[in-house]
Amino acid sequence: MKPFQYTRLSTEDLSLGTTLRDSTILAGGTNLVDLMKYGVEEPDSLADIGKLPYAQIEESDKGLLLGALVTNADTAYHAAVKSTYPVLNKAILAAASSQLRNRATNGGNLLQRTRCYYFYDTTMPCNKREPGTGCAAIKGFNRIHAILGTSASCIATHPSDMCVALAALEAKVHVLRKGETIVIPFDQLHRLPGDQPEKDHNLEPGDLITHIQLPAEGFSEHFEYLKIRDRESYAFALVSVAACLKVSQGKIADIRVALGGVAHKPWKLKEVEKDFFGKEASTENFQSLAEQLIQGAQGFGTNDFKISLVKGAIVRALNNALNPS
Ligand SMILES: Cc1cc2nc3c(=O)[nH]c(=O)nc-3n(C[C@H](O)[C@H](O)[C@H](O)COP(=O)(O)OP(=O)(O)OC[C@H]3O[C@@H](n4cnc5c(N)ncnc54)[C@H](O)[C@@H]3O)c2cc1C
Ligand code: SF4
Repeated sequence: MKPFQYTRLSTEDLSLGTTLRDSTILAGGTNLVDLMKYGVEEPDSLADIGKLPYAQIEESDKGLLLGALVTNADTAYHAAVKSTYPVLNKAILAAASSQLRNRATNGGNLLQRTRCYYFYDTTMPCNKREPGTGCAAIKGFNRIHAILGTSASCIATHPSDMCVALAALEAKVHVLRKGETIVIPFDQLHRLPGDQPEKDHNLEPGDLITHIQLPAEGFSEHFEYLKIRDRESYAFALVSVAACLKVSQGKIADIRVALGGVAHKPWKLKEVEKDFFGKEASTENFQSLAEQLIQGAQGFGTNDFKISLVKGAIVRALNNALNPS
């Protein structure tokens, strides 16, 4: 591993305007340290944010504010998350292992990097790791790769489970940028690869995620997080679906569907969801929504199976949400 400088930031550092621009932020380290060991990331300087005051969950009439430094485990087991946002509880608990969830933070989960095998293998071409070298996955083994929103430069997926639930809930992300807090709607945090796959998200160097804001509506009555993977535990999603419904007299009053494992960001199309408001909450309509949501999906060989898999998973997740067991 390349030698690096290490600084533990204090609240005074932030109020004095210490810039994070030239450092890489270290939170739980469960992804970043692996990447450093593999030589995928070689930062000169690490800024450890572990002692900053973002390790609380605060309740308000606008919803719940999750500190960026709260661990994934403490978030999942928080009473208000369990009762009001069960889709988030279920998504977090479907991820990684209990040891990892005890260490991994919310901010780090949002910005964890893809699990594309070629990204981790520094002997292989990868436009995300080394722009301009090509993409080994497009004609390689791409079982875990994307089928939606891909580009000729990159077909990687975003690996997070938590983010799929946050996309469905339409959370917001609070970011400290040059001493000011800005608020970013969740669907604008991550980006599609386009011709700049090295950029996973729309944050700027030096930006610090401080909180995740959950809206008041948590869909506690009708929800599902369905994760399909090669092993029943301790495996990333091949495809996943966060489904949230509000139903009134058998009709859809609100519907949210976000997909994981299929794109460079959680995949959600508000315009498609809106088309189903007022329609009957039925398997037929769920099938039609699934078709529209994945329109244009394209496989790359070993991941072709994901197209029919995700279609079935959407319908199953919505039916499970409609008829909770
Ligand atoms: C074996 C294994 C299995 C896993 N399985 C799953 C799984 O099934 N599902 C799943 O969702 N995840 C899974 N994970 C990923 C795990 O959830 C992430 O590694 C973890 O959430 C990252 O959080 P962290 O605090 O450790 O982040 P770090 O590793 O410290 O940081 C990750 C990235 O986020 C940046 N960062 C961290 N905090 C902030 C902040 N506040 N502001 C700005 N930038 C920040 C860092 O600079 C870095 O780029 C797995 C990980 C491992 C090792
Ligand atoms: S899919 Fe993206 S991350 Fe994977 S090899 Fe291609 S460019 Fe790299």
